[in-house]
Amino acid sequence: MPGKFGKRLLTRYCRDCDMDFIRKTLTVPAAILINIVLLNLTFVSSVLALEKINVGVSVLPQAYFVERIGGQRVCAQVLLPPSANHEIYEPTPRQLREMSNVKIYFKLGDAALFPFEERCLDFLSSKKDKVKIVNMSEGLTKDREDPHVWLSVSVVKGAAENICQALGATDPVNKEYYRKNLDVFLNDIQKLENHIRKTLAGKEGCYFMVFHPAWGYFARNYGLNQLAIEEEGKPVNAFHIKKMIDVAKKKGIKVIFVQKGFDSKSAGAIARQIGGKLQEVDPLDKDWLNNMKRFADLLSPALRR
Ligand SMILES: [Zn+2]
Repeated sequence: MPGKFGKRLLTRYCRDCDMDFIRKTLTVPAAILINIVLLNLTFVSSVLALEKINVGVSVLPQAYFVERIGGQRVCAQVLLPPSANHEIYEPTPRQLREMSNVKIYFKLGDAALFPFEERCLDFLSSKKDKVKIVNMSEGLTKDREDPHVWLSVSVVKGAAENICQALGATDPVNKEYYRKNLDVFLNDIQKLENHIRKTLAGKEGCYFMVFHPAWGYFARNYGLNQLAIEEEGKPVNAFHIKKMIDVAKKKGIKVIFVQKGFDSKSAGAIARQIGGKLQEVDPLDKDWLNNMKRFADLLSPALRR
């Protein structure tokens, strides 16, 4: 009855911590197993015992990335509140003060595409005790005009590696922990990529309509065309709305994707004109993995040639 024997030994070990007894009497595989369990327990408790690393990020999905890799070791502070408009948002003085206490700030990209992020980075660089600024998308292929890098699966894969490296450099003791978490996250990203490709198979070259042009990376990655009512940062003009109504009618588009924080009255007007509907999606949803999957699922039936 090896199972029963092993169980009895484990109970005894836990009660007495008698290593000699265990070494002498345990079978080799059981001893290895117990050692692995103990090593893992020691590892987990050492990870948890240390003080957490405070990390600053610009948008909620980045908090998700940092937490997937940093796990129990990090505490993420987000600059842009949920559903806020990133084009006009101004960080409060309190937020800026709080951000100056973080150890690392992960910015979105190299160009100053987000005024609220730039405002915060200017403040942080004026401080004596410098916060380490890490460019999440360093070395990755990006569109210089499109700030929504976190909605690109390929950019996020590279960003996850960058985040892992920065956390490992700041906290070398737990390098291995971050690496393991990264592997699990990359595996989930691969599954997401497979799901999106399967969902959008055969739809290359199709069109979809949005109010705010947040899904440009998504469109380019899967060979789709995003038609935007609002052009990034520019006020909506009547001529452009008329053009969008004509395109939507011609292509038979019946869904317009909108997001909170943006005035989408013009999207409602177009929807009425084309006999279509508004569909809310949130590019800033913290649950990035499920949100990307959800968008692909909603998008697929809305695509038109
Ligand atoms: Zn935007």
